[in-house]
Amino acid sequence: MQPRRPTRPIFVGDSRTGIVQIGGGKPDARGGPSAPAPVSIQTMTAGYTHDIDRCVAEIHKLTAAGADIVRVAVPEKKDTLALREILNQTSVPIVADVHFHFRRAIEAVEAGVHKIRLNPGNIADREQVNAVIDACKGANGGRGIPIRVGVNEGSIIERRDKQKRAKELGAVFSEHQHGYLLAIMIAKLEEYLEIFYERDFYDIAISAKSMSAPVVIDAYTEIAARFDHPLHLGVTHAGPKETGCIRSVVALGTLLAGGIGDTIRISYASDPVYEVEDGLELVWSLGLRERKGAELIACPTCGRIQVDLFTLTQEVRKKLAAEITVPMKVAVMGCVVNGPGEAEGADVAVFAGDRRGIIYVQGEKVANVAEAEILDRLLEECKAFQTRVLAGEVKLGEKRVDIVPPDPIGELGSGWEKMAAERMGRGDPTRLTIRES
Ligand code: SF4
Repeated sequence: MQPRRPTRPIFVGDSRTGIVQIGGGKPDARGGPSAPAPVSIQTMTAGYTHDIDRCVAEIHKLTAAGADIVRVAVPEKKDTLALREILNQTSVPIVADVHFHFRRAIEAVEAGVHKIRLNPGNIADREQVNAVIDACKGANGGRGIPIRVGVNEGSIIERRDKQKRAKELGAVFSEHQHGYLLAIMIAKLEEYLEIFYERDFYDIAISAKSMSAPVVIDAYTEIAARFDHPLHLGVTHAGPKETGCIRSVVALGTLLAGGIGDTIRISYASDPVYEVEDGLELVWSLGLRERKGAELIACPTCGRIQVDLFTLTQEVRKKLAAEITVPMKVAVMGCVVNGPGEAEGADVAVFAGDRRGIIYVQGEKVANVAEAEILDRLLEECKAFQTRVLAGEVKLGEKRVDIVPPDPIGELGSGWEKMAAERMGRGDPTRLTIRES
């Protein structure tokens, strides 16, 4: 993991929604914060913005899932007219996504939106861009609101004179597999940002999305080396969750591990709640944010399994999401052969055996129950452990536990090893041994 790249900070939100800092670590003209903010999670509503009730309900759902910032599309005036009421009824910073008509941006700013997203490919007229910049500068009681400049691969429109320039830049980037495309993105950014700089406007985030993970990695790496604005990462048109997840996580994970990226949006052709859930899991997995709720470790099962572990794991996942708020580690392991070693460090763990499960809490065996009782008892122990953590009686991960496996024919009983042992005439059960350190 590389340290986070310092950037100028931007701030999204107001006193009512709370303010989300994006980027940081490089003081701005106002003496901004000295450290980058945690990577924030964004998503976008899938319904019509002018359908106020549905839009508000969707924003509430996405906020409950953990979104830090929610974006809404404002293609028509009826959408920007709805914004003021939507802002009144929601409590998360809202970004207006503007395409094609600069007046939608100005209307959104007047409605009180917290950030604007502009696309150089479809709002390029200098006077129109200037009008949007001036509106954003004067918004929020004169403190201004930021603008994201998004040069998505799909919306770059080549113009005659710019083509020539892009080709020239393409030679500069010829060492890249995607040199020509990168050159266009960089050229678009440079010329677009120049408009903002000329008006002394620096509250900018940059995105350069593509549907190709390698292009995304190369584009953001180049942009990070050339500009000091915070970066909004994303793979666009990534597809349904089932395949888009891999494409998004490989690109965004690579960049984030390299210290690049300040806010992310995973985009799926699926319910945007999945975008938020997977975005959070990505930053949690990389240790870029403190986890909220339990972390579930579960074995993939193999020929040793003797309980319905897939169903159990899904049930445990749902229950933990609903009832556990502290970031405890919970392990659901199929047996005691490899399970103990793989569950090392778990606060609460169950090791399944012959239609039974042994439950441990920080190394202490607390129960040996039948398969049908595993779920309820495990959750009971998780909730009791959470209560003790919140009361300050125990600390998460405090007791590191080494469990010395295995117990092929011990108190859990064990499938084919047990039968094989019996066939070979071995009868003495070895005990499951817990060793604390
Ligand atoms: S924990 Fe046991 S059942 Fe699960 S994969 Fe490992 S050996 Fe197989």
